[in-house]
Amino acid sequence: MKTESITNVKTTQETTAVKAFGTDAADAPLQPMNIQRRQPTPHDIEIEILYCGVCHSDLHTARNEWHGTTYPCVPGHEIVGRIVRVGDHVKKFKVGDVAAVGCLVDSCRECQYCQDDLEQYCENGFTGTYGSPDKHLGGQTYGGYSESIVVDEAFVLRVPDHLDLAATAPLLCAGITTYSPLRHWNVGPGQKVGIVGIGGLGHMGVKIAKAMGATVIVYTTSPSKVEDAKRLGADDVVLSKDKEQMKKYAGQLHFVLDAVSAQHDINAYLNLLRVDGALVLVGAPELPLPVAAFGLIPKRRTFAGSMIGGIAETQEMLDFCGEHNIVSDVELIQMDQINEAYERLLKGDVKYRFVIDMASLKG
Ligand code: NAP
Ligand code: ZN
Ligand code: ZN
Repeated sequence: MKTESITNVKTTQETTAVKAFGTDAADAPLQPMNIQRRQPTPHDIEIEILYCGVCHSDLHTARNEWHGTTYPCVPGHEIVGRIVRVGDHVKKFKVGDVAAVGCLVDSCRECQYCQDDLEQYCENGFTGTYGSPDKHLGGQTYGGYSESIVVDEAFVLRVPDHLDLAATAPLLCAGITTYSPLRHWNVGPGQKVGIVGIGGLGHMGVKIAKAMGATVIVYTTSPSKVEDAKRLGADDVVLSKDKEQMKKYAGQLHFVLDAVSAQHDINAYLNLLRVDGALVLVGAPELPLPVAAFGLIPKRRTFAGSMIGGIAETQEMLDFCGEHNIVSDVELIQMDQINEAYERLLKGDVKYRFVIDMASLKG
């Protein structure tokens, strides 16, 4: 890392150049680049990144599939690292502590939602870990595919002591994105819950719903995941391409969590819900998903969405995972394997989350 002054920003201030991996265009591969990190302000923490998970949202964003990406884009919002510097007013953390950062690095902190610990729904727009306006330096924020990051302590999380650090990284997005709706819809004992799409999010959904006491039915398009899903905790597994198998729980499920990243027939899953059941979409495919009115009306079904989780709830999720010994099943990769990892992610060929060993970026 090297300290320098930069002037292409809102204020002229000292920044540090750090190594990162990112892309300059939707159709370009990710490659090494340098980015600037601010010097820690009194409330900031500087974290040397040890591990960063690879979320499908990183791929959607890098390739501009949601049509809002500003380049250069440095993805990564499942960050675990070690604190190397703290500002003078930092109270909750000290140098040497392990710390984590998820999808949010700031919000307005004043609106009704921020006051209610729902920063992910901030009325004035939260600051995402990557691709949001950077309040300090101008330009935009850069994510965790990098050597280090500087974050206000209010948005930094604690990692339970005994959890494996690489396998903890995916909890910061895949974990909280599945935990939050499962909690909000009060999933628990006596309920049958469907989890659709067993990728990074889905496999965490299985583990967390099971730990909450629900009976868990997995819906997968991949025959190779059937046995595995049981190992992850599923009570039953349905191959979703098989129409006969899809009839098994029709009208019986209390809750369905849909974590599919691509186009698929949502009505097939609405049909699984009992009266007053809810299907919550967390997967974010590029194109709209048609919903049949008569998939919703006759059983007073709910079709809803949910986005990540607030900071307090993310800490609650980490503590819950600590208590239940839940981490992600990960495949550790080197930074320069990221383009290959994206191609495999598109094929559903990961069990179940790629995590980048950031030591490989230092070289
Ligand atoms: P992932 O690891 O790639 O998993 C997606 C899974 O969807 C695949 O493993 C596969 O599961 C299934 N799938 C893929 N293509 C399919 C197709 N054509 N038809 C049916 N099923 C298919 O992705 P992820 O990181 O878990 O993310 C999943 C989605 O959630 C992404 O769209 C991501 O952007 C979004 N996301 C949303 C939030 C939020 O706040 N709401 C947060 C994070 C991510 P099977 O092999 O089991 O079928
Ligand atoms: Zn994510
Ligand atoms: Zn707010």
